[in-house]
Amino acid sequence: MSAEHLAFKPKVSPLIPIVEDERQFPVNRIFCVGRNYAEHAREMGNDPDRDPPFFFLKSLDALVPGGGAVTYPMATNDLHHEIEMIVAIGLSGSEIAKADALGHVFGYAIGLDLTRRDLQAQAKKMSRPWDFGKSFEQGAPMTAITKTNLCGHLSSGEISLTVNDKVQQIGNLNEMIWDVPEIISFLSRFYHLEAGDLIFTGTPAGVGALDRGDHLIGRVAGLPDLAVDII
Ligand code: MN
Repeated sequence: MSAEHLAFKPKVSPLIPIVEDERQFPVNRIFCVGRNYAEHAREMGNDPDRDPPFFFLKSLDALVPGGGAVTYPMATNDLHHEIEMIVAIGLSGSEIAKADALGHVFGYAIGLDLTRRDLQAQAKKMSRPWDFGKSFEQGAPMTAITKTNLCGHLSSGEISLTVNDKVQQIGNLNEMIWDVPEIISFLSRFYHLEAGDLIFTGTPAGVGALDRGDHLIGRVAGLPDLAVDII
């Protein structure tokens, strides 16, 4: 179909830079794991021994490739930070066995699962979907993707977030309730995972509110830092 048959110009997939690679990573979907660190589940008032992790999605307009300036979003007075390690899928598949899961990983990155906590809390209370709390424009700034041939597979190492030079979140990737192979295997029983899918793997304890003017640095051992300014 030629362009003149389209009512307007379609948006193209967000493109994420790749470390030491001229190419870019076109994003297909954004999956997120909820409550994948026990301490964070507890700080949100949940029992990680009784409630296993689960998934939700963010829309593609949430991505801010490379991080940088993020505009404080509409309709919230309680924007929260959640620092997360991101898995980038490079090989499609469904019903993937845990033992094969890492073969589907293209690389890793760092992202923020920004959350309109007030809207999420309202949704939880009313047993409604989380979309308004989790999926919004610029709600997912992220770094370039580091390929596995450069960083290996990340299963342990420090993950942290500083806000205005103060450490607010700190944990270790080895504290994840579901590790990366389990996440991929589980998710691939519900969706045909495709090259271009991103998976945010959950946040350690210490989430909190952000203000305009805040400067954030996200770190995961073995990956380049994420820098974000809330404007
Ligand atoms: Mn999260």
